[in-house]
Amino acid sequence: MELWFTEKHTPTVKFSIQVDRQLYCGHSEFQRIDVFDSKEFGRFLTLDGYMMLTEKDEFIYHEMIVHVPMAVHPAPKKVLVIGGGDGGAVRELTRYQEIEQIDLVEIDELVVEVCKKYLPHTACCFGDERVSVYYQDGLKFVRRCEQEYDLIIVDSTDPFGPGEGLFTKEFYGNCFKALKEDGIMVNQHESAFYQDDAVAMQRAHKRIVDSFPISRVYQAHIPTYPSGHWLFGFASKKYYPIEDLKAVKWNALGFKTRYYNTKLHVGAFALPNYVEELLKDV
Ligand code: SAM
Repeated sequence: MELWFTEKHTPTVKFSIQVDRQLYCGHSEFQRIDVFDSKEFGRFLTLDGYMMLTEKDEFIYHEMIVHVPMAVHPAPKKVLVIGGGDGGAVRELTRYQEIEQIDLVEIDELVVEVCKKYLPHTACCFGDERVSVYYQDGLKFVRRCEQEYDLIIVDSTDPFGPGEGLFTKEFYGNCFKALKEDGIMVNQHESAFYQDDAVAMQRAHKRIVDSFPISRVYQAHIPTYPSGHWLFGFASKKYYPIEDLKAVKWNALGFKTRYYNTKLHVGAFALPNYVEELLKDV
């Protein structure tokens, strides 16, 4: 008998992956957690039935959420990751020797435990001495921070369930406050392709535009997310994502990446017209 994982992307669109076997199924206080194994995408993690990452395409998401701001900020020392319990963003951050401190605030301890066991390629750097993990609600965590971080990465689930608070005006305002005077925030910004997602994306974008003086959106191709076309938000107090890109410095690091490069960095901010229209309307 064939086994399939299916995610509903809209009321009339579904996306399915044939599954070899289910490796884990459990419930935390916050959500249902599943890990599957598949031929095409390798192992993959879902929360409440929604795709979080697959072994095959996670590099795209994690490289784009980390290296874009890291190639712009001139001296990032202290970084906060909110969400991101799979460890992929932390893995990319630990490649930078100039970073001194990485704080990860994940609401669900079980996600981290499950990822350490079943997705060791992403959850591989929690043991780095610069990394501290706080099992807390990111919304509450940033309320207490003041001018502490150079970079905040919001690697959250979608704007419902435990992740809902991470798309609010209050949250973005507190992220602004938690950043130093030249700090940058990036967030997973959903997709603009399907109508309901586009509305949620516009709502979040407006709140970021109202909270930060500089706010841009960039894109990547992520095959296992709804529509395959994904957006990221880049919000900043001082630096512009293209004008302040330190391409020579970043290339001199000699990192081997599979998706990100500094030419693509510039191109990623060139958005399709229908996305530009949606962003203009906020
Ligand atoms: N790349 C992923 C995506 O967009 O599908 C996000 C992956 S990561 C697993 C998202 C994490 O955010 C989850 O582990 C979830 O538990 C965490 N999360 C959700 N709401 C949160 C909150 N309020 N505070 C901190 N972490 C939260």
